[in-house]
Amino acid sequence: MRVLLLGAPGSGKGTQGPRLARLLGVPHVAVGDLLRTEAASGSALGARLGEVMARGELVSDELTTPLVTGALRASLSGFVLDGYPRTRVQADALDAFLGRRAAPLDAVLRFRIPSEVVTERLLARGRVDDTSETVRARLATWAAHEDALIEHYRGLVVELDALGAPDEVFDRAADALREHATVAA
Ligand code: AMP
Repeated sequence: MRVLLLGAPGSGKGTQGPRLARLLGVPHVAVGDLLRTEAASGSALGARLGEVMARGELVSDELTTPLVTGALRASLSGFVLDGYPRTRVQADALDAFLGRRAAPLDAVLRFRIPSEVVTERLLARGRVDDTSETVRARLATWAAHEDALIEHYRGLVVELDALGAPDEVFDRAADALREHATVAA
């Protein structure tokens, strides 16, 4: 199964992604993690990436798209993709990549959660890009692109109530994907 996780920063994708990937027996491809690894590598590129990420801004498509397609190439039959696309342009790039390989997405799992809750969660998490200013910037970036992404994936979107304890949300997500796969089959 090829699943995309769509949701605001702090909506729980990073917690549920690895668990859902284990459930489905596919790799979890988290773009933020790939970028953080590069940023921590000590390279000149990594230093530039770190600055952009610390401001809560999006890293350029020239960097993110090859990172994602490189990771997906190894697992086209199934993956849980988290953090990409974040814009319509990235969605088009992903479509083009998967379309060339006849590997369309099966489901887009949309994490729904009130913005006050994600703000609180991100501030509590205390990651280096989780200061109040960058949290605001990251949520604003998400909000600016959310509708276009949902529209882009209309027909594939599976709604998930992402509020609650991780185990509860996981059970709901697993049920929603199972149901979607049955309905789609
Ligand atoms: P995340 O862990 O998904 O919240 O991502 C952390 C940071 O990595 C974001 O705030 C962006 O700076 C960068 N990032 C992650 N995914 C993307 C993407 N698809 N396009 C551009 N930048 C990204």
